[in-house]
Amino acid sequence: MTAAPMSGPLLPYGRQTIEDDDIAAVTEALRADFLTTGPTVAAFERAFAEAVGARHAVACANGTAALHLAMLALDVKPGEAVIVPSITFLATANCARYVGADVVFADVDPDSGLMTPGALAEALGRLEGRRLRAVLPVHLRGDACDLPGLEALARDAGAVLVEDAPHALGTTMSFGNTAETVGDVRHSAMATFSFHPVKTIATGEGGMVTTNDARLAERLRTLRSHGMVRPPDADPWWYEMPEPGFNYRLPDILCALGLSQLAKLPRFAARRRALAAAYRVALAPLAPGVRIAAQPAWSDPVLHLMTVLIDFPAVGRTRRDVVEALRAKGVGSQVHYIPVHRQPYYQGLYGATELPGAEAWYGRCLSLPLYPGMTDDDVARVTEALGAALGL
Ligand SMILES: *Cc1c(COP(=O)(O)O)cnc(C)c1O
Repeated sequence: MTAAPMSGPLLPYGRQTIEDDDIAAVTEALRADFLTTGPTVAAFERAFAEAVGARHAVACANGTAALHLAMLALDVKPGEAVIVPSITFLATANCARYVGADVVFADVDPDSGLMTPGALAEALGRLEGRRLRAVLPVHLRGDACDLPGLEALARDAGAVLVEDAPHALGTTMSFGNTAETVGDVRHSAMATFSFHPVKTIATGEGGMVTTNDARLAERLRTLRSHGMVRPPDADPWWYEMPEPGFNYRLPDILCALGLSQLAKLPRFAARRRALAAAYRVALAPLAPGVRIAAQPAWSDPVLHLMTVLIDFPAVGRTRRDVVEALRAKGVGSQVHYIPVHRQPYYQGLYGATELPGAEAWYGRCLSLPLYPGMTDDDVARVTEALGAALGL
């Protein structure tokens, strides 16, 4: 097995690790009888459910489809409300709009970027009479949210949690004495994942929903394939459609890649943890101008993003200057994320919302390269380039 070579001199903020056996797994799938709904779909789902400790896992086309299916499976209706942190990818909020629900944006902790119970409580005060159906915590960067705290508030408000977990595959957490894994859905109705190339395992496009509720799993499976159901004793050609669904299937070819990648999760996770530890040491001298995003006490993350918070006014550089100086030295970076409540579409719908934690996070955040194919020397190279760009 050989590590994938660098695509060029630029270190991107994230990238896939595809090895010869991953390619062999796809080749084998291409020679098999089913290119789409074949036996590898169920095999990938079983392996994924086992890896995260959930009873059911339902594969789908991508992480956005996973979120949309979760809203459909819960029967979230037009005019109802869904609470989403403003610091996330667009899709976390958009899935509520796909079913006609309203998005109520929650603030985040300015140092971790996570929606806290305090931020959720504040957002609950802005429902304006709408019925709350779901709260969507995002395990930003890979650190786990305070799931018991969020769950208690959501339950009191008559809603469930749906964890948007694409950043946190492999993350473990301990609340009190119990060790838990992101995706085991002990506190939530469902958790969603993405296998986009920058995420912890890659299938190109791909997604998964985990749940411990057999009825939700069944509904997710029906809705990902047009809403078609086959009654047990029906004629061989027969199918029925109680409600329209979508074509959100993940083909056998990509499930074969997913299975091969999932087997590497322990190695990928260990490498991400080792790189994060190397960054902690290397970045320490750049404090207080540069700090790594805060890790909650209960979280033992497999980080998806190495996000630092930079006090740009104090160091006398703009973020644009820093991004360009890094790029000139072959170091990619990215901003995760522009607050979603500021997007023209959402401002047009809901007007301006004041979320000071999200603004404070956005003003300082920058994600540095982090992916298993990086070397320890790459960490040193990134850190030196950042120090030089900031004049530290
Ligand atoms: C990647 C991502 C998604 C969307 O996943 P896709 O597979 O790209 O559709 C949604 N939410 C978060 C937090 C993500 O990081």
